[in-house]
Amino acid sequence: MRLGIISALAEEQHGLIEAFEGPYKHIHGMREYTTGKLWEIDAVCVLSRIGKVAAAMTAAILVEKFGVTHIVFTGVAGSGDKNVNVGDIVVAEALVQHDFDASPLFPRFEIPLTGLSRFATDVALTERLANAAAKTTRVHRGLIASGDQFIGKLAQIQAIKAGLPDLLAVEMEGAAVAQVCFELGIPFAVIRTISDNANDDAAVDFMHFIKTVASRYAFEVIHNFCHPD
Ligand code: SAH
Repeated sequence: MRLGIISALAEEQHGLIEAFEGPYKHIHGMREYTTGKLWEIDAVCVLSRIGKVAAAMTAAILVEKFGVTHIVFTGVAGSGDKNVNVGDIVVAEALVQHDFDASPLFPRFEIPLTGLSRFATDVALTERLANAAAKTTRVHRGLIASGDQFIGKLAQIQAIKAGLPDLLAVEMEGAAVAQVCFELGIPFAVIRTISDNANDDAAVDFMHFIKTVASRYAFEVIHNFCHPD
């Protein structure tokens, strides 16, 4: 296994680079890729920057230039369900682009020429991540939606939820990584710690959370994932 680990923001990978044995840094396309050994695993860490295009480019380069065989995205997200609270973790079973709509040519959310609106995560990677996360906090599994918007208004999250009633979390990169991995045949998983409720308080909650809890969680989960016991 050569594992690609992507996050959007530096806080979401805090401490990981320092944990590398023999890290080597490569700059490519405005991103810094760190390769080396992360506990027992041959890994490549990178910050994708924010949004679907940024994440798609990063995932494709991890596979094509750095030869990763598996990808994990770790980051924070807004809650998409009343039972999912700030500080909980959501591990994706499937991802959808909530802002994709080529109707009436294709059904709403469907990615043209794939026949899919939801991209399923790899079962084994997802199981391993969920087990790693369960040592840290409460874990939910299910649907995560991505789009090129920070969801910071109650009306916005309500509109997304109306179209995707089983939604658990909303963020800006996961479904893009999912589509790239599907098209390239790479097993992948997405894990998100809830930083905010994607409502009118989201921007303030997000800023507070990202500085305090997010970094510690990300590190613990990836450590447990790479080094299970
Ligand atoms: N102000 C921040 C912008 C972060 S955008 C900055 O300057 O760095 C929010 C990031 O966290 C995205 O990468 C997204 O995936 C995730 N996220 C957390 N809460 C979100 C929400 N409510 N809506 C959309 N994305 C959210």
